[in-house]
Amino acid sequence: MAGKKGFILCVCQGTCPSFAKMDVFGVLSDVRREKLVDYVCLHPQLCVGDGEEFLKTLLSGGETEKLYIAACDPQMQCKMYRDAFEAVGFDKTHHLALDIRNRTTEEAGAAIKELIADNP
Ligand code: SF4
Repeated sequence: MAGKKGFILCVCQGTCPSFAKMDVFGVLSDVRREKLVDYVCLHPQLCVGDGEEFLKTLLSGGETEKLYIAACDPQMQCKMYRDAFEAVGFDKTHHLALDIRNRTTEEAGAAIKELIADNP
């Protein structure tokens, strides 16, 4: 059986102006409604200690095959999540990162759907 596809939206605690133009729950609903992934979730700050623990807990069972993360700069994401992925043996090439800062709800939703479609 194929592994699951998950989607995480990370929004800098919800206080960063870069995310002010989007309705984060609207973005999540948009992705979820179309059943593009097996699960969606929101995390306020993946790049700190409890965010790392969240990633380790989420991925430790090995059920997630692909993890799409919409947040900040993709290269920064790779660096910031690397330890968590390595700790649980998650293949970092199965992390698909997207920068959605300064996008509207519609723009963010469209970019996320394109990322998933291009990396099934
Ligand atoms: S991972 Fe990126 S978007 Fe998420 S809190 Fe850290 S800097 Fe902000």
